[in-house]
Amino acid sequence: MAEVDFDVIVIGGGVAGTVGAYQLAQAGREVLLIERGIEAGSKNLSGGVFYCRVMEQVFPDFVEAAPVERRITRNVLSFLNESSHVNIDVWDTRLAEPVNAVSVLRAKLDPWLAEKCEEAGVTVMPGVKVDGLLTEGSQIVGVRSGEDELRAHVVVAADGVNSFIAQDAGIRAKEPMKNLALGVKSVIRLRREVLEDRFRLTGDDGVAYAVVGDATRSVAGGGFLYTNTDSVSIGVVLRLDDLAAKGLDSSAVHDHFLAHPAIAPLLKDGELLEYGCHLTIEDGPAMVSHDLTLPGLVIIGDAAGFTLNTGMTIRGMDLAAGSAIAAATAINRALEAGDFSQAAMDVYRTELDAGFVGADMKTYAKAPAFLENEEMYKDVGRLLADVFHGLYNLDTTPRRHLLAVARDALKRSKLTMTRLARIGWQAVRAL
Ligand SMILES: Cc1cc2nc3c(=O)[nH]c(=O)nc-3n(C[C@H](O)[C@H](O)[C@H](O)COP(=O)(O)OP(=O)(O)OC[C@H]3O[C@@H](n4cnc5c(N)ncnc54)[C@H](O)[C@@H]3O)c2cc1C
Repeated sequence: MAEVDFDVIVIGGGVAGTVGAYQLAQAGREVLLIERGIEAGSKNLSGGVFYCRVMEQVFPDFVEAAPVERRITRNVLSFLNESSHVNIDVWDTRLAEPVNAVSVLRAKLDPWLAEKCEEAGVTVMPGVKVDGLLTEGSQIVGVRSGEDELRAHVVVAADGVNSFIAQDAGIRAKEPMKNLALGVKSVIRLRREVLEDRFRLTGDDGVAYAVVGDATRSVAGGGFLYTNTDSVSIGVVLRLDDLAAKGLDSSAVHDHFLAHPAIAPLLKDGELLEYGCHLTIEDGPAMVSHDLTLPGLVIIGDAAGFTLNTGMTIRGMDLAAGSAIAAATAINRALEAGDFSQAAMDVYRTELDAGFVGADMKTYAKAPAFLENEEMYKDVGRLLADVFHGLYNLDTTPRRHLLAVARDALKRSKLTMTRLARIGWQAVRAL
């Protein structure tokens, strides 16, 4: 085999990069993890619900050992209007046995993951930006940072949603705005007792809200609110093309959500701890249809497009970890065989397709198109609120059956029965 500085160089110290590097080091490989931030996590941002079952394959005691905030046992899907909301509130203790999802703060989680990498023998190099790939013919043989060159048998691009590395490799072009969304998020501290009273939580249990409608001032996307130990993570995710088309300012939309009369009381007397913006992926299935490998290169996590937004859940971290595990398996096999050809790297795609990452990307392939339905962001929420208003508003007029109330509400709304049926049918097929 060629002379190299490391068996594997991983670019990016997010969830994907750290999990991949850790798995490879555990298998006895010489691994370098390069992160441009001053430490892992310093540039990263998630809403913060980590569907963490996949981490059992990496750290069997993940939930106990990692710096996680709360176990999510309540999920609220909220249709928010200007002066009303309709919430579907699902509390289920089975979600804690075993723990299905936890809230996390990346500023704590990513440094912990990087520390685990170091303990496993990974050389972690923070504060260094990879500028490009080293190639010999069609083979990727290492990375370039400024004047420095480092060589490896395999390079793993885990450099996040913009992945300049995937672009440098000629795998991806600049992503169209329609495939991307902008996330704007605040972390707001609340005294633990206040938070638990306000959100009806006990112990380490937590709640995750997914909010559509007036959360985003009708821009395609949604709002989220997740409880941490003594803070809430709250923000909006806005599809870039729709945000531009509606001419709205992303921070103003974020502020509008936090000030909404249904939301503001939940944040009352809170102290702003963090505020940040980050791009995220709106149409992951479209992005992962690109190649994910070249000879000597694999692309994982957001860099490859592994994010799924169904309106009810935003998933990226679990898919980042799942894709990293698949990549580590393929790379280990390549290192054993001393074969870093295209065929050897393509084992990664086979591994993905054999597991939940590939399967889920296919299952939810229609979700992004479903979420393009404009009516989801205004009319559906209003219709629901009008139906319930008709039931609860006992104004001494004679009562009518639910069907008649619903028919009247539909007549007043911009939706038609046919349109509603079509949205319902699409929802059933996409989600
Ligand atoms: C507002 C918002 C809310 C979200 N909510 C959720 C949620 O609730 N649950 C969920 O699972 N997912 C959520 N996501 C998605 C999730 O954050 C991502 O899918 C996940 O972070 C992807 O991990 P990653 O390791 O692939 O990429 P990242 O976490 O982006 O890590 C990439 C790393 O690469 C580094 N890097 C980039 N370029 C270079 C370079 N040239 N050289 C060296 N280092 C480099 C970066 O500094 C960074 O550390 C959300 C995203 C946003 C923006």
